[in-house]
Amino acid sequence: MVKYKPIYEVKLAGNEIGYIDDKKEFESTIVAQIENYKSKNVYNVEIQEKPEYALKLVSRKQETNEDEIVMAMQKDMIITYQYFDIYIGEEKISSVDTLETAQEIVNEIKQKDETADLKIIECETQDEMELPENTLETAKEEVYKKLNLIQEEKIRIEKTTINGIKLAVLPVQGTITSRYGVSSRIRSSNHTGLDIATAKGTPIKVAASGTVTCAKYSGSYGNLVKIDHGNGVETWYAHTSKMNVTEGQTIEAGEIIAEVGSTGNSTGPHLHFEIRLNGEHINPEEAYENIEK
Ligand SMILES: [Zn+2]
Repeated sequence: MVKYKPIYEVKLAGNEIGYIDDKKEFESTIVAQIENYKSKNVYNVEIQEKPEYALKLVSRKQETNEDEIVMAMQKDMIITYQYFDIYIGEEKISSVDTLETAQEIVNEIKQKDETADLKIIECETQDEMELPENTLETAKEEVYKKLNLIQEEKIRIEKTTINGIKLAVLPVQGTITSRYGVSSRIRSSNHTGLDIATAKGTPIKVAASGTVTCAKYSGSYGNLVKIDHGNGVETWYAHTSKMNVTEGQTIEAGEIIAEVGSTGNSTGPHLHFEIRLNGEHINPEEAYENIEK
């Protein structure tokens, strides 16, 4: 009776980890494991140490342990996962599992708006926890949400832009007490600006960069500061209690040019904010209300 059988001893990184009967079958099991990983976001599977096999004659009673060896090898694998980020401009908006999903989202948006600045960035991680959990729908929702915000912001900026001059800084915050165009018993003509009531002494910031063209007492306007922003656009700040600028001075958007007061034809502390385009007053309300608070 034969007491011995040929069997493969398997070593991993120099350590004996067990015995297998069939080398070919064992290797195909390892390949199957790798294929199994590949089905879920896996970009690459790397076995750090290749198993070494040594054919030995061992006792017929020696048992094999393929499953344990496979498990040991799994622990040793370096798995690189792949996912895809969707960017709008330079900002990452969403992440998805596959390139196909990312492309489906980008293509759908591009069909509606070919100017949308979208791109897909391929990413890799060895940490499964970092993989995105987004579905196509949730990712799409994130991208559309951001695009809508960008669109709203664009519209807001357009509303604050007069003939190419962007009014970026709110002169004062307060209560609107008189709108543009309304008639009043204290004025001979219709209202040429917007009245914003707030405490006396509140600093008034210039809405955009420009040059001071007037900083003096000016009849019913009281202490009046006029700023020329170029392109025929001027902003006027009236009834101020104190003026901090002088004619000819250049100023940056947001600089404090005066303080709220009640000089001239005024019944209480407020800023009369006026916008002039080529010398004519225009309705400043939409611009004022859309300047970022
Ligand atoms: Zn007014």
